[in-house]
Amino acid sequence: MPVVTEPLDTATALQGCLSKMTIEPGSPARYLLRAGEVRLDLNACLGKPLRLEWTGAIACTHCGRATRKSFAQGHCYPCFKRLAQCDTCIMKPELCHFFEGTCREPDWAERHCFQPHVVYLANASGLKVGITRSSQMPTRWLDQGAVQALPILEVDTRQQSGFVEMLFKEEVSDRTNWRAMLKGDTRALDLVAERDRLLSRLDAGLANLRERFGADAIRPLDVAPLSFDYPVLEFPAKVVSHNLDKQPVVAGVLQGIKGQYLILDSGVINLRKFTGYEVKVST
Ligand SMILES: [Zn+2]
Repeated sequence: MPVVTEPLDTATALQGCLSKMTIEPGSPARYLLRAGEVRLDLNACLGKPLRLEWTGAIACTHCGRATRKSFAQGHCYPCFKRLAQCDTCIMKPELCHFFEGTCREPDWAERHCFQPHVVYLANASGLKVGITRSSQMPTRWLDQGAVQALPILEVDTRQQSGFVEMLFKEEVSDRTNWRAMLKGDTRALDLVAERDRLLSRLDAGLANLRERFGADAIRPLDVAPLSFDYPVLEFPAKVVSHNLDKQPVVAGVLQGIKGQYLILDSGVINLRKFTGYEVKVST
């Protein structure tokens, strides 16, 4: 895969369909913009002008067919209705269709849902709980713009992680306030202390789940908290967001990158929302 590390010649524009940015942890995290086959080193673009122009085309991220509208972050309507990864149980794993006998793609589920999942605490805009496949760490936290994360429990299936998350939601949010995340004034938390407090408060609920799924089903993890650092020169005082559907040209000086957002001096844009959009990128 070619990686463009030097600022582009102003006469040259990269063109391709957006995928979510690749983020590698580091001090700060390293971002690659992905448009079609090309990768652009965004850290090298900090403090410089960046321009994205949507051509009007959207290609389904799964089947590649043209679609007039994007469903579930870059899918065409038929894929959105057909794929297990676009079903409601992905967002609400406690409603797993596999156990109802109505999973859209049982083979896919065997590979993705019947894998170890981790319940974690993270801090992107304050304390939150979340779940992820073990193989998705630390990408999941970087995608959210978390500054801290701590895996706390491991389970065998996505459905079990959903039940554990439901329990934790009695005490803590599962949402990120993206505006607060982008303002960058997140207060550091003692995630180990939060973990111990929550595990003790939710002890009875966890015991119930262990009774249901087996004594060994929900395993405490004892790992060190992680922290993440993002390439940001300046956080926005007021968060204004760009939307390619309304305004196909987004341009400004790149002030930072956090989560899946570009922070430009003209506003922010959540690139993940525009997965599959064909754009011309110029620097
Ligand atoms: Zn499709």
